[in-house]
Amino acid sequence: MPNSIKRRGLMLVLSSPSGAGKSTLARMLLTDKEKLELALSISVTTRSRRPSEIEGVHYHFIQTREFERLRDSDALIEWAEVHGNFYGTPREAAENALADGQDMLFDIDWQGALQLQEKMKGDVVSIFILPPSMAALKERLHRRAEDAEDVINMRLDNARNEIERWRSYDYVIVNEDLDRAYQQVQSIVTAERLRRDRCPGLFDFVSSLLDEKLD
Ligand code: ADP
Ligand code: 5GP
Repeated sequence: MPNSIKRRGLMLVLSSPSGAGKSTLARMLLTDKEKLELALSISVTTRSRRPSEIEGVHYHFIQTREFERLRDSDALIEWAEVHGNFYGTPREAAENALADGQDMLFDIDWQGALQLQEKMKGDVVSIFILPPSMAALKERLHRRAEDAEDVINMRLDNARNEIERWRSYDYVIVNEDLDRAYQQVQSIVTAERLRRDRCPGLFDFVSSLLDEKLD
């Protein structure tokens, strides 16, 4: 489709139990910028920063009081408590980007995905990432080596509950081979961008096509 045809941005929601590879896939999508041009929605969280994380890049790390202030002033499109911490999506940045035709990536849990699906149904494309096995999930959480042992155990305990949410997503991908899973996410983005109802600019394009005079 020609780039001149205007369309509204889409909201690509990626969720998974912790350790299934969602952040890895998100990183691959974001660094593949030339082709996919997705922008990450940067959440606010009350969780402590991991050693590898950068304020304003991975999250905005805030105190609980500040989180409550944002939530109570309707500055978050969705929010949830996950693994004992609060997380939320800032409203303004996401809404401006979508209106501008910028596609956004949301790395959020099932509770947030449900809220976005309710509030912004036509804009959301949701993908759930599953691990190939529970043993692989455990192994990946340990290999990531960024969380303490008790945090890893809590995340594993929560994984079954999270996996049970798979049915409320548009697409489900089993992340066994990372490159294959990435190709599958890419294909979904490409196809969803071409949906007729996402491209209001098609009306003008088709009119001008039909009006075109041939010699
Ligand atoms: P999540 O964001 O879902 O919690 P991460 O993306 O941080 O998970 O991945 C957890 C760990 O698993 C990381 O060390 C990552 O490099 C690794 N990983 C991700 N996908 C795969 C895969 N397909 N095969 C093997 N390891 C993977
Ligand atoms: P982590 O602490 O591993 O970065 O994230 C824990 C969980 O919180 C992940 O499932 C992640 O997708 C989710 N999460 C991150 N940001 C948000 C957010 O803004 N809203 C919601 N609902 N979940 C989030």
